[in-house]
Amino acid sequence: MYCSNCGKQIDDKAVICIGCGVPTQHYVPPGNSGFQVMDTPVPEGRFDWLTTLLLCFFLGVFGVHSFYTKKTTIGIAQLLTLGGCGIWTTIDLIMIIVGSFKDGDGNALHRK
Ligand SMILES: [Zn+2]
Repeated sequence: MYCSNCGKQIDDKAVICIGCGVPTQHYVPPGNSGFQVMDTPVPEGRFDWLTTLLLCFFLGVFGVHSFYTKKTTIGIAQLLTLGGCGIWTTIDLIMIIVGSFKDGDGNALHRK
């Protein structure tokens, strides 16, 4: 094929013209190549604060509040250890109350 800018003959699969440096039709802008980047930001506060608090308080030793907030791996670990004999659950409960508990997406919990 030929460069659309300078007319120099270039390789059919070239992504950039060797003559003038202008991108060809094969050129893919950075960030748009290979891995598909999520262009829609994760909504903040997907999970309800009060629901998480109640789940942690009543079912925290089974890791239910972690499953609810999409922290599945932590939830399984808490289920197997019964919330780290309740210590882990207590720490999570305090984190939820003071507002430093993060969901599986790294977002804060949504308070009404
Ligand atoms: Zn060119």
